[in-house]
Amino acid sequence: MLMTDLIAAKRDGRELSTEEIGFFVTGFTSGQIPDYQMSAMCMAILFRGMTDREILDLTLAMERSGDILDLSEIKGIKADKHSTGGVGDKTTLVLCPMIAALGVKFAKMSGRGLGHTGGTIDKLESFPGFSTAISERQFIDDVNRIGIAIAGQTANLVPADKKMYALRDVTGTVPSIPLIVSSIMSKKLASGADIIVLDVKCGEGSFMKTKNDAKELASQLVRVGKLAGKKVTAVITDMDEPLGFAVGNALEVKEAIAALNGAECGELTNLCLTLGSYILLDAGLAVSEMKARAMLRGTIEDGSALKKLAELVEAQGGDPSAVYDTSLLPDAPVKLEVLSNCQGYVKHIAAEDVGLVSMHLGGGRVTKESVIDLSVGVVLNKKVGNHVDAGEVIGTVHAATEEAASKAADELRDCYTISENKVRKKAFIKGIVR
Ligand code: URA
Repeated sequence: MLMTDLIAAKRDGRELSTEEIGFFVTGFTSGQIPDYQMSAMCMAILFRGMTDREILDLTLAMERSGDILDLSEIKGIKADKHSTGGVGDKTTLVLCPMIAALGVKFAKMSGRGLGHTGGTIDKLESFPGFSTAISERQFIDDVNRIGIAIAGQTANLVPADKKMYALRDVTGTVPSIPLIVSSIMSKKLASGADIIVLDVKCGEGSFMKTKNDAKELASQLVRVGKLAGKKVTAVITDMDEPLGFAVGNALEVKEAIAALNGAECGELTNLCLTLGSYILLDAGLAVSEMKARAMLRGTIEDGSALKKLAELVEAQGGDPSAVYDTSLLPDAPVKLEVLSNCQGYVKHIAAEDVGLVSMHLGGGRVTKESVIDLSVGVVLNKKVGNHVDAGEVIGTVHAATEEAASKAADELRDCYTISENKVRKKAFIKGIVR
């Protein structure tokens, strides 16, 4: 088999066979197929697309390119969640403890943040001593014992995706639905869960800019997951402003704890109740979405979700008292209120740019090796639809120095679009695909 023939076949719109797809995934992962040929293949896939069968074969070939977690020793139903990447997205920290408190196992592999998006692992490391570098043995034992574990992705989990994603990133081939689906689902399948919920972001700060594209991605993700024998739900959510109010590692942990204590944190609680209710329905623990939401709310009201978070923190070497006393979490020395210079209604908050403000403060990575400051970031006071007076506080910058704070304050002000006319908030949940 020759890679040149396969590239030409896809370029001309031919469906590739299972063997052909397996050939280029294996060859590229082992280094036998060079970057330039794989780039051409990715571009041909971007333009020509793939059939459901091809996407499933690509996903499975990528899944098999490295280690596959064997979670068969974990008793009970295992759930997992994935988000296509957001700003201020601390959903995992709220959802996983709620679900685990209700008896569904959460064995989660998470990543670090890069650029304007945050990563769950960085956020969790805000708990002094917390480590996600746990062995597979501890991962499995913790899930069996307390129902939850969150580990960093092992180096050899889907190596094909690591190589392909790095190549796509520099060849303009990230926004291809078959490539995004195989990238996400290969990792989810290799992580071994029975139930998968996906948060597909839609809007300016995400890969899918329009509702139609987001729907198409969500449908493909669900189709491939089902073909692979999993119970999958995709929830399409708005990403035209950050999720909740806090952006920055420790600040987001504090907001997640507030949500687990029952505070209303914008759409954060709504999103967690929605994702969580589909997990409970698929696990057979609830008969309706309404009942499932009530069960999830119950874990907030009786404190069991917060207790589960404390158990997770303690099991992975962190200080669980920080769950109950958030003053023990990292705290930036400088806090600067950002004042609006005009009056009106918040029309839009550029989510990606808010992520960049946090990154510029030192809260995000410029390269994979960057050391980040867990304490810095921003807390928004005003969200889309809110009225704001000139001179009113729209947010607070948490910074390491006065100079960094003042620069970030200007940047944060620029993230806001204020309109003279009343703004009607768009629906946050734009669709559900099951
Ligand atoms: N997230 C992934 O893991 N892969 C993609 O290709 C896009 C988003």
